[in-house]
Amino acid sequence: MAIRGASSISTTSKLLLQNYRLLKPLTTLSSTTTPPSTIISPQTFSEKHTPTTTTFGGSGSGFGSRSPLSFEDGKDLFASISTAKLLKSTLTLKMAAVEPVVDLGTWVINSKLMNVGVFKDVVMGFTKCTFYDHFVAGRNVDEAGKTVKMLWDDGFRGMLDYGLEHVDDNESCDRNSEAFIKTVDSTKSLPATSVSSVVVKITAICPVSILKRISDLLRWEYKTKSNDLPWKQNTLPIFSESSPLYHTLTKPEPLTPQEEQDFRLAQQRLTNIIEKCLESNVPLVIDAEDTQIQPAIDYFTHSAAVLYNKGDKPLIFGTIQAYLKDAKERLVLLKAAADQMGLPLGVKLVRGAYMSSEAQVAASLGHDSPIHNGIQQTHACYNDCASFMLNEIANGPGALVLATHNFESGRLAALKAQELGIAKGNQKFQFAQLYGMAEALSYGLRNAGFEVSKYLPFGPVDQIMPYLLRRAEENKGMLSTSAIDRQLMRMELKRRLTAAVL
Ligand SMILES: Cc1cc2nc3c(=O)[nH]c(=O)nc-3n(C[C@H](O)[C@H](O)[C@H](O)COP(=O)(O)OP(=O)(O)OC[C@H]3O[C@@H](n4cnc5c(N)ncnc54)[C@H](O)[C@@H]3O)c2cc1C
Repeated sequence: MAIRGASSISTTSKLLLQNYRLLKPLTTLSSTTTPPSTIISPQTFSEKHTPTTTTFGGSGSGFGSRSPLSFEDGKDLFASISTAKLLKSTLTLKMAAVEPVVDLGTWVINSKLMNVGVFKDVVMGFTKCTFYDHFVAGRNVDEAGKTVKMLWDDGFRGMLDYGLEHVDDNESCDRNSEAFIKTVDSTKSLPATSVSSVVVKITAICPVSILKRISDLLRWEYKTKSNDLPWKQNTLPIFSESSPLYHTLTKPEPLTPQEEQDFRLAQQRLTNIIEKCLESNVPLVIDAEDTQIQPAIDYFTHSAAVLYNKGDKPLIFGTIQAYLKDAKERLVLLKAAADQMGLPLGVKLVRGAYMSSEAQVAASLGHDSPIHNGIQQTHACYNDCASFMLNEIANGPGALVLATHNFESGRLAALKAQELGIAKGNQKFQFAQLYGMAEALSYGLRNAGFEVSKYLPFGPVDQIMPYLLRRAEENKGMLSTSAIDRQLMRMELKRRLTAAVL
């Protein structure tokens, strides 16, 4: 079913081609579209061809026994999924693609109607059987553990994410920190290496007001080239020449004793989680959020990496958002500084999920958005960063988690890994997709022999609602991320039905 000519292109191929076309104008990027400091270098991956089936092989590459990388054949891709589960997934994704359904659902969940007991029960019950079951790994560590085992049997690993978000008091931060520690501890009872990492959002263990203050102080220090932050420890670069600094217009006051104490408490919480990771031999991945608070998140991440990343494999991974104009510059600076300090850099590469809030904040302060002016630049930056990291880790220290649902980025990185001889089972490079999303990509990469993790949020229905609303928004519309999955699942269901009838 690989694409062989325009006349024989299937509907799925058309969807995949749409995905590929997003990258076409890459080589035509001109300096007029991006300021000089943010020009993205031309595509550095192999650009020989864009088939939907890519055969890996060659002696010594470690790819010899792999199947071709293919995202076209639902029979191969979904062989291990039961017909009932496939049907339910198809219906849930279809429902999520109908914009009025998602808009109405979002309105209802945010409305006062949810204060009415019976009404709330019905809405929560419906959400639980549909979106929650599809996108969430379970209500607690035990249920999430069962999901990990199921995925492990199917050839995947799990990134355990106890779905906790923004809090602003020490009591909630302490509670969240305990929950993260319990999550790390739970990995001991799961098959060895079935959990590729535990994920933490710093906003769940440090009051957001403190993150804003620390970010302001770091920005001001960088802007004025001063060096007067008494609490600052050894860290890696947090900014580059093109980083957005407009959030901090005037000199911020130093931390008050109370703020300094809250900051130290948050650092201690992170240290406690890291110590548990060290004991359990599980890497820790720290999510990226918005640029208002990201400098503080990076500070937490990098200062911990300086202390805990040793040898060849990192314990702590930070996140780079390629939709930011300064992403590549920062990544290069980070890697150079890490190399100089002799520590392995751990990077999770994403495109970024705070598009509208970033644009709103920048506009309200009279500045351009820190996000690339167009999606093509984001795609180019993502692939360029991936290529850079793959080159770096092929023969040196560091590790890369390529977190994406984009087929072209997946295919290009797979080709690059093959070119560089990054062998199967090499724990320094893995792909990752969110649970319930981009299944065809996950199965295709797994079938070709790559390490693939599913990012597994878990927690009670109420708590996980913000995450679910973001997934609903992402899957909304007929051409959304899930279009290829829906198409392939429908075709596979049709095939199974026909086979059963005949
Ligand atoms: C395992 C995993 C972990 C993640 N962790 C994080 C995290 O820590 N922090 C975080 O912020 N996000 C995170 N995300 C979400 C991620 O950033 C993306 O929102 C999501 O994965 C979609 O990007 P994609 O690479 O899958 O590409 P695609 O499916 O191709 O999606 C591209 C999307 O990028 C957006 N976009 C980006 N730049 C532009 C632009 N310049 N103009 C227009 N649209 C643009 C559009 O919304 C578009 O739909 C994670 C995703 C995964 C899979």
